[in-house]
Amino acid sequence: MQTILDFNFEKLKEIILSLNEPSYRSKQLFEGLHSGKKLEEISNISKAFKEKLLSKYLDFPAEIYKKLESKDGTKKYVFKYLDGNIVEGVLMKYKYGYTLCVSTQVGCRMNCSFCASGLNGLIRNLSCGEILAEVLLVNRDLGGSVKDRKITNLVLMGSGEPLDNYAEVVNFLKIISSPESLNISPRNISLSTCGLIDKIDRLSKENLPITLTISLHAPNGQIREKIMPVAKAYKYDELIKCAKRYFKNTGRRVVYEYALIAGVNDSLKNAEELARNLKGDYSFHVNIIPLNEVKERGLKSSKNAYTFMNALEKLGVSATVRRTMGEDIEGACGQLRNKILKDENL
Ligand code: SAH
Repeated sequence: MQTILDFNFEKLKEIILSLNEPSYRSKQLFEGLHSGKKLEEISNISKAFKEKLLSKYLDFPAEIYKKLESKDGTKKYVFKYLDGNIVEGVLMKYKYGYTLCVSTQVGCRMNCSFCASGLNGLIRNLSCGEILAEVLLVNRDLGGSVKDRKITNLVLMGSGEPLDNYAEVVNFLKIISSPESLNISPRNISLSTCGLIDKIDRLSKENLPITLTISLHAPNGQIREKIMPVAKAYKYDELIKCAKRYFKNTGRRVVYEYALIAGVNDSLKNAEELARNLKGDYSFHVNIIPLNEVKERGLKSSKNAYTFMNALEKLGVSATVRRTMGEDIEGACGQLRNKILKDENL
């Protein structure tokens, strides 16, 4: 059964009309839901109408199950869905507003060797409404509503591989950026992918000018295949060519994520090879991330972040080191979820 949050405004209007309700009800319902409210909390629609809806659709699909606040102000949310599954979101406060990091799947099937999200494989995809619920609940928790947007930026960098759940994720992007919902500009949204080439090409034709972030993490295919199984199916050189096409099709700069892992991808030689392999006639940026150590994975964070960045800059590659946030609250993808599953025997 679909949830009542799985539809865009037009589709919701059709549903309302098919239930023989006046069309102004669709605006009331959409505004209530997109303010982060369950049906019973929406006061301007009747009980009889809510019952009619609930006979055909599931209610608002999630609730905030836990909230943790870091010393640096970063907040971690745990969302619980109607079937009991949980995922995480991270809220970061910047000068210009709030950025929310959302999850797109429960678990992940990519099994990257440094990441906590893939430790137990993929449990299931999230529906578009379930992803929307993460944003709408946090916006409400910040005191906002559909007409008072507190969240200005989104990053699809929580658990899951967004392009492995393509249709729901694209639907989510279209709805959250629509004027009837939070109207978050696609330019303020980043989608991070481990590099599913065919899906990146498809995304570049959706007319959604979001920022594409590619989790590269290696200077060449050989090292990438060692730490990311997905690199065996989608070859390094083809992925870089695909990034160039993305830029050509959308005019949007591509960002490469590069988690520095001690002894694996962090030498000066690695930086030089990376610069050689990335260069070309397109706009890109390298974001160096100090590895967030995941105990079960055994890999160590590198201390070379700034040396690595300077080496890239010297070779004409634009690069920054991302500051870490929320480490004291299990900030890395999937870490908090795994801890809660363990602590509470879920
Ligand atoms: N599946 C998507 C998005 C999820 S993770 C992707 O692969 O891009 C968001 C980013 O965090 C990715 O770049 C991912 O590689 C990185 N990441 C995962 N675990 C990490 C860790 N332990 N330390 C640092 N970065 C990590």
